[in-house]
Amino acid sequence: MKTPITVVGGGLAGVEAAWQCARFGVPVELYEMRPATMTPAHRTGALAELVCSNSFKSMVDGTAPALLKEEMRRLGSLTLKAAAASRVPAGGALAVDRVRFAEEVTTALEAEAGVNVTRVEFEEWPPAPAVVATGPLTSEVMAEALADAVGRGNLYFFDALAPIVSAESVDMGKAFEASRYDKGDGAYVNCPLTATEYRAFTCALTAASTAPFRDFEKKLFFEGCVPVEELARRGEDTLRFGPMKPVGLKDPRTGRRPYAVLQLRPEVLSREMFGLVGFQTRLKQREQRRVFQMIPALAEAEFLRYGAAHRNTYICSPTALEATTELSSRRGVFVAGQLTGVEGYMESAATGIVAGINAARFARGEPFVYPPPETATGALLRYISTAPAATFAPMNVNFGLFLPAGGKGKRDRQRRVVARAREAFTKWLANVGEEF
Ligand SMILES: Cc1cc2nc3c(=O)[nH]c(=O)nc-3n(C[C@H](O)[C@H](O)[C@H](O)COP(=O)(O)OP(=O)(O)OC[C@H]3O[C@@H](n4cnc5c(N)ncnc54)[C@H](O)[C@@H]3O)c2cc1C
Repeated sequence: MKTPITVVGGGLAGVEAAWQCARFGVPVELYEMRPATMTPAHRTGALAELVCSNSFKSMVDGTAPALLKEEMRRLGSLTLKAAAASRVPAGGALAVDRVRFAEEVTTALEAEAGVNVTRVEFEEWPPAPAVVATGPLTSEVMAEALADAVGRGNLYFFDALAPIVSAESVDMGKAFEASRYDKGDGAYVNCPLTATEYRAFTCALTAASTAPFRDFEKKLFFEGCVPVEELARRGEDTLRFGPMKPVGLKDPRTGRRPYAVLQLRPEVLSREMFGLVGFQTRLKQREQRRVFQMIPALAEAEFLRYGAAHRNTYICSPTALEATTELSSRRGVFVAGQLTGVEGYMESAATGIVAGINAARFARGEPFVYPPPETATGALLRYISTAPAATFAPMNVNFGLFLPAGGKGKRDRQRRVVARAREAFTKWLANVGEEF
């Protein structure tokens, strides 16, 4: 009988790690503290609960997020299986009904003979073999244990959530359904603004009051999750070239491209509520209502959830972690998910897959493996294990992480990167053996 692998945390990364261990025939003890102990953002006791957006980003062939998902699927990803069963229309993106998604994952893991799920807060450092995947909202005791394990170099800072409005409160007389460049189904609701409306909106946005920063908060955000009011402060046109860009969209009422657009994405299959895409914010709640209702289609918007600030915990992986996701200071203990300094649901899940595979190999006395740096998964692993420690910041998958592959122009370079990644991944899979 093999020593069971302890997996701490049943979020996106922990469930993938547990699934991989079971897949390779090593028993798993998975510890999840919810529902008895909740985090500030989770609302349920379900495994793999999505705390914010319901989107797993692009599925469009040739993009970095799509490539990462393709590799994860080839490694038997549990979250992608669950996503396939709970998908909601979202144009070229993979979005899910969050309740069904979490149910699919929870049911699959609880039914897996090799996995035992215990609902308790893990309060000590786990013995090897183990995977620590307690996420951006790691409980205090585990954060302490982590700080001991990696040195006191882990940081705490804050992200921002986007508000959600009810579908019936959106004025469809002033909005229109379409996906950019008509890619996929017309899944987004687009709220257009004229130049005058846009200027008045950005003016109000930059002047609105935000929640005060507390002593222990740092005014530092992931570049992919910068609050909309911070973006607006960077320049009058920043939003129009960022989350409010109108490219690829034509307003059917005018037959023209709007000056600026806020996109709304369905949060659930029934399309009863919409998230404001790219509108993470730290504005006070009454200010969110006042300012976002200046967008004509949202004049009567009912806010089902307001945007908010949240904590993010991650370790300085370049000094603490190997590309296998094993901690340099604790052999046989792997770290996965947002804690490693990747950012995003799928990125977290991908590191969970790698941690699970290697924890299983550790338990079986086999050498570690991980996809080469030419692949999307390998590029992420290379980033977290080798980026300059002094400036290390969480990162989502993007073409900037890949080794250059030559080519002329952006499209051609990206095409080459994708082709090379597929070839490298296929070769790697063939080398690591039949079990994969
Ligand atoms: C508020 C918020 C919003 C976010 N929004 C997005 C978004 O819109 N899109 C996106 O791609 N990414 C988002 N992220 C970032 C990140 O992708 C997700 O947090 C993702 O869920 C990370 O996966 P994970 O497995 O590392 O952590 P989680 O999914 O958070 O899982 C960690 C699990 O560990 C449990 N846990 C913690 N401590 C203990 C303990 N001591 N013992 C037992 N269990 C424990 C927690 O209850 C949780 O279930 C957001 C993060 C936060 C905090």
